[in-house]
Amino acid sequence: MRLGLFGGTFDPPHVGHVLAASDAVEALRLDRLVFIPAARQPFKQGGVIASPQQRLEMLRLTIGDDLRFAVDAIEIDRAGLSYTVDTLVAYAAREPQARRFLLVGEDLVGQIPSWRDSYRVAELAEIVVLARGDGDPPPSRGEGEGSVHVLPFTRIATRRVDVSSTEIRDRVRAGRPVRGFVTESVAEFIHAATLYR
Ligand code: ATP
Repeated sequence: MRLGLFGGTFDPPHVGHVLAASDAVEALRLDRLVFIPAARQPFKQGGVIASPQQRLEMLRLTIGDDLRFAVDAIEIDRAGLSYTVDTLVAYAAREPQARRFLLVGEDLVGQIPSWRDSYRVAELAEIVVLARGDGDPPPSRGEGEGSVHVLPFTRIATRRVDVSSTEIRDRVRAGRPVRGFVTESVAEFIHAATLYR
């Protein structure tokens, strides 16, 4: 079982997340990729606007019945600050046979060494950086290997989709449409819950 774990705030989840996740499934030949919304992220305090339950619901709407993907509320259920190491310890206990890949966006690479128990994180999962490429096919496995302050990680190419949750929140606030940036269901959810206004 090859398991991808993709954490984030997902406020809201968008097409960039889905396409990066989809590329990761193919490049790493994952059996399943689990989106794990943070309750509160140590490095992102203050910026989260939708509630944990709303972000969870938007992720569920985003993946729909796509069997490649799942959503896990483990960090929201744990509450407090969400430390990746705690989540990986839980996964190691729950799915000891699985080969675990921790998927990390390229913008977060520099933060990895400052994560709580980062060495333990690297022991509990293979860290894979999702490099935002120019649409080139993903490199063969092993290529692009490097280290972040001696922490091993692999880099895979994912397509460049220039969308962020910040831009989507800004668009909603400005009264501009977000269809195409998020799934129809999430666009409707944002509208119905009057999020980000
Ligand atoms: P914000 O704008 O609020 O900072 P975000 O769009 O970066 O949010 P996050 O929930 O912080 O979204 O991201 C979760 C993960 O997805 C992170 O690892 C991040 O690097 C990655 N990610 C975010 N946007 C994209 C994108 N357009 N393409 C590929 N990966 C992305």
